[in-house]
Amino acid sequence: MNSNVRAYAAASAATPLGPFRLIRRGARKDDVEIEILYCGVCHSDLHTARNDWGWTTYPIVPGHEIIGRVASVGADVTGFKVGDHVGVGCMVDSCGHCEACDEGHEQHCPESTYTYGGVDRQDGQRTQGGYSEKIVVNQKFVLRVPDGLDLKGAAPLLCAGITTWAPLKNYGVGPGSKVAVVGLGGLGHMAIKLAKALGAEVTLFTRSAGKEADARRLGADHIVLSTDAAQMAAVAVRFHLIVDTVPYLHDTNPYIPTLRFKGTLVLVGYLGPLEPALNSMPMVIGGKAVAGSLIGGIPATQEMLDFCGKHNITSDIEVINMQDINDAYERMLKSDVKYRFVIDMASLKQEA
Ligand SMILES: [Zn+2]
Ligand SMILES: [Zn+2]
Repeated sequence: MNSNVRAYAAASAATPLGPFRLIRRGARKDDVEIEILYCGVCHSDLHTARNDWGWTTYPIVPGHEIIGRVASVGADVTGFKVGDHVGVGCMVDSCGHCEACDEGHEQHCPESTYTYGGVDRQDGQRTQGGYSEKIVVNQKFVLRVPDGLDLKGAAPLLCAGITTWAPLKNYGVGPGSKVAVVGLGGLGHMAIKLAKALGAEVTLFTRSAGKEADARRLGADHIVLSTDAAQMAAVAVRFHLIVDTVPYLHDTNPYIPTLRFKGTLVLVGYLGPLEPALNSMPMVIGGKAVAGSLIGGIPATQEMLDFCGKHNITSDIEVINMQDINDAYERMLKSDVKYRFVIDMASLKQEA
């Protein structure tokens, strides 16, 4: 049976988010109905709410770092029961039979359905995200949250965590790896924690000297000021992998000489042309690569959550009420958060 739930939505690119009523479908036979407890606030939420990428349909309920409790399950659901703590990330469905799906990289399925702003493959309804009391998701896209992991701090693992975990795993990071992270925000702080826990030696590239103490607390072994030519020269031909988390236009050229041969700089935060243009010279001469990586598949997301459970890794967060979301967006634009806002969904109960 459908249910009418409280949510927060943007009605247009120019209006702040406000209270909204949302119809959630009743659970189909392979669905899990989830009472949402916490939802992380990702830059994609803000970009989508404001139509920065030009593809938003309104009204839109953002949110794809969802942690909740199973409220009910459909008849064919096997892996989950009422009361389980679960997560939902950036996707809620995919075709299930293409090459990407077969390999567990559902994020690259041509028909993958995003958690918000997508179109449900069965009923054609717009998908709406986690800034709401409840969500109903096919069991294949529901993740198990390991026992003991702080639920609030686990929410950002569903996007920021998997986005940085995927390149670390895909490029074989482990003991002996030298990994650098560009940018210390929601993604960057997770990249440092995860790379360190995988056994890598971790360096943070930063433009501001003030971040050193925090970077070390998070696990960075070294901090390099990217504006200091001498410090950059000192790390020439050093890194196996650079995870570039900067979400806005920036110059990637200074980082390429710090890669070893066969080393790769992976962009995870920025979508768009690079300026100044990428100089191929150090890449060709040095046998280095620049690549991109998009979130991660469902098997990798579960693997990351299980790893975080074992190593007790969560995001550094600031908990807010749903009603604070518009202020939170403004603070995010100023990088004024350490390092992720997480909405306590109990605050939605104040709404009519
Ligand atoms: Zn996200
Ligand atoms: Zn597919």
